[in-house]
Amino acid sequence: MGSAEAPSPERAAGGTALAAPAATDTRLPRHAGGLGVGIDRVAVDAFTIPTDLPESDGTYAWTSTTIVVVRAFGGGRTGHGYTYAHPAAGALIVERLIPLVVGRDAADTSGAWSAMVAAVRNLGRPGIAATAISAVDQAVWDLKARLLGLPLADLLGRAHERVAGYGSGGFTSYTDAELRTQLGGWADAGFRAVKLKVGREPEADPHRVAVAREAVGPDVAVMVDANGALDRRSALGAAEAFAEQRVTWFEEPVSSDDIEGLRWLRDRTPARMAVAAGEYAWGPDAFRRLLAAGAVDVLQADATRCTGVTGFLLASALCESFHVPLSAHCAPSIHLPLMAAARPALNMEWFHDHVRIEHLLFDGAPTPTNGWLVPDAAAPGFGLELREADATAYRVWSWA
Ligand SMILES: [Mg+2]
Repeated sequence: MGSAEAPSPERAAGGTALAAPAATDTRLPRHAGGLGVGIDRVAVDAFTIPTDLPESDGTYAWTSTTIVVVRAFGGGRTGHGYTYAHPAAGALIVERLIPLVVGRDAADTSGAWSAMVAAVRNLGRPGIAATAISAVDQAVWDLKARLLGLPLADLLGRAHERVAGYGSGGFTSYTDAELRTQLGGWADAGFRAVKLKVGREPEADPHRVAVAREAVGPDVAVMVDANGALDRRSALGAAEAFAEQRVTWFEEPVSSDDIEGLRWLRDRTPARMAVAAGEYAWGPDAFRRLLAAGAVDVLQADATRCTGVTGFLLASALCESFHVPLSAHCAPSIHLPLMAAARPALNMEWFHDHVRIEHLLFDGAPTPTNGWLVPDAAAPGFGLELREADATAYRVWSWA
């Protein structure tokens, strides 16, 4: 610059001048950034809750479920987040993640996420580390929304007034009577779709699907989830049999690590049957791999595994760019506001085990009406409050 005159806005925007803007410059003044509220401290608790009945699916069986709850405190508010994971996720949060978020401005969700993802590089980002990041990321987003006095769906930008839930359970450990009671109960409550587990004893599945169909009637969709129990040809045979029973959704027919197998199956299943997977995608690259391979008709994402709200938003953006609908996996209290804000949202899982736990531990856990879920327009953030008095009996690990 040859003179002391103020640069033109064009030149300043081009990065070639460092002089202060002229008085006539109409650009906004540089903002100091943030909410001016730091995250003061973080508490972590793990609770283990016994199931009401033994539960199993095609590849796993369990009698209790552990939830790791994170609370981030700042500005007189408390942000909540959680993941269904081993208490080891809590230890990882304490050692590696809390030092990265305490003292950070509560508005800095992306900065916190980036720092956490970078900090677990050598531990392996998938698995426990991703669940740990998920819970902390949610708590930071929740605190930010609460400080702004906004429901999370509104902070993210509400795309839908309501989200369709589908009843999910139908464990392979259930008797026919238990299956009938649970799935029929959801149909009576107005759910338009239900899902049962298959694949543990494949020869018994046509009968179990018939029990499900009889319980819900002709107008409710029946979905199945094999949790990766089958090989490719067994899965194709099962898909052909299920299609005759009007099953419209086949989840993880083969292992979701077998991306080519999912694609192979998707190319051969009847048009009215969707192949779904994604619950073990721990981050954006894993979602991209499923989508780029054409492996799924519906992508499932789980904000308690895929690095939280931030990771879930990335899944939503990827779905949009691949023109594939998005379904939320489990943890309905976390997913409701995220799905209300996700343009490609298709449906969300009303998972028996997690519904029980979330209503046991949290005030503000949502309740469906005729199978639809609506975010509470008056509750900031996720709208959840940990009910300490009820939760204490289930606490197995704690750090504050
Ligand atoms: Mg599943």
